Amino acid sequence: MHFFSFSKRLTALSFAVCFTVPLFAQNSLPTTTPAERTEARDIFKQLIEINTTDTPKGSVTSATKAMQKRFLDAGFSPDDVHLLGPDPNKMNLVVRMRAAAPTTEKPVLFLCHIDVVEALASDWHTDPFQFVEKDGYFYGRGTQDMKESDAALVFTFLRLHKEGYKPKRDLILALTADEEGGKFNGASWLVTNHRDLVDAAFVINPDAGGIELDHGKPIVGDVEATEKVYADYQVTATNRGGHSSLPRPDNAIYELTAALNKLAAYSFPFEMNEVTRMYFGNLAKQEAGEMADDMRAILATPPNADAVARLSKEPSFNSNFRTTCVATRLAAGHANNALPQSAQANVNCRIFPGHSPEEIRQQLIALFGDTKLNVKYVSDAGKVSDTAPERKAIVPPPPLKEVFDPLTRITDAIWPGLPVTPEMEDGASDSIYFAQAGYACYGFSAVALERNDVRAHGQDERLPVDSYWKALDFFYSFAKALGHA
Ligand SMILES: [Zn+2]
Repeated sequence: MHFFSFSKRLTALSFAVCFTVPLFAQNSLPTTTPAERTEARDIFKQLIEINTTDTPKGSVTSATKAMQKRFLDAGFSPDDVHLLGPDPNKMNLVVRMRAAAPTTEKPVLFLCHIDVVEALASDWHTDPFQFVEKDGYFYGRGTQDMKESDAALVFTFLRLHKEGYKPKRDLILALTADEEGGKFNGASWLVTNHRDLVDAAFVINPDAGGIELDHGKPIVGDVEATEKVYADYQVTATNRGGHSSLPRPDNAIYELTAALNKLAAYSFPFEMNEVTRMYFGNLAKQEAGEMADDMRAILATPPNADAVARLSKEPSFNSNFRTTCVATRLAAGHANNALPQSAQANVNCRIFPGHSPEEIRQQLIALFGDTKLNVKYVSDAGKVSDTAPERKAIVPPPPLKEVFDPLTRITDAIWPGLPVTPEMEDGASDSIYFAQAGYACYGFSAVALERNDVRAHGQDERLPVDSYWKALDFFYSFAKALGHA
């Protein structure tokens, strides 16, 4: 299967290979030589074939060490290649490409997780930890999430170094552990413990956003420009219990369900930020009729409440409009013939940027209005505490021009006419640790995927070969632009 003009470009390349001047793709961006593609493919293969799952067979350190070796072999100073982490099996790699001259300008950080989700070999048609090329695809665990970007950025840094490129500000690449699971999240650990190594003007995280294809045609390019904060709360009602033949009005199950019913009926206040305003502004241009009118009406000051209510019926809009909290688990009682001594629910919240988990905990307490209920915070690691963190994701600034201008220009050169849209992610990625530390983060994967072929975390994960070559072109030009060319 072929994507775009892959075979044509190969022909053009084979003519150009004898020249030493940079090659240019049809879109006039510099592209890669066959020898460079071989190297980039080798890096990708090596990463896929090192198991980085959070299992006894997996080792993040094997992968980061292998990349460390490549950087040192290429002549990066050992002072700029740091292998570090809280666990011998979960070492992160932080590589710095130094600016040509000392500068007060803050660096750019490319943040890439290098761990992958476990793959059940029996579900796959190839070995998930073998790099297999067939039918125009690269197969293997991590080909979509996100070793393709890890490899593309490792290659890009090596290529720039080899070419003698000197940015005007430092460029940093962090390859990190435990985004998909595990106890040693590298992004969180680095920003907490080694801020000096990862401090940057902003963060580019290729683990989000990206280019969606429909039958090979690029449809939309999403840039995640902010994201919600994930938080779990444990809500507990306790009671002295008793014999079920003698019921009383006080009852742990009734008290808990009364509170959950209040939650079911409650909507957190409608909010917008610079990113969601842009998102709905763009969407309004693509929609028609009442939908488009409603989108424009929510952008007005004050927003039209009826339009907000109508659009909120769509869960993906609703979740972009406000903090959401929903009951996700329930456990209560201990015997069929006993009054319940406890009833407990998990309430999962996705918090709108600008609010802290503790602020939301207080709002839940106020909403339930029952002092007999206990509302505690549950951390990602499952630790239950009486109060929640005060840290909030920063209210996103208007998308930075120094990021969006080159991103849009380069994207348009590779995928002509593709609209690039900033959006707020309702889920969560490693960007959140940096957002909570006050950094603007942009999630953009430069790989194009068929919208019906998203296989991240699934079986037979694969990436169109051509998408990988295009990602190399993108990151080369993008890294240079962010380093002020
Ligand atoms: Zn990922």
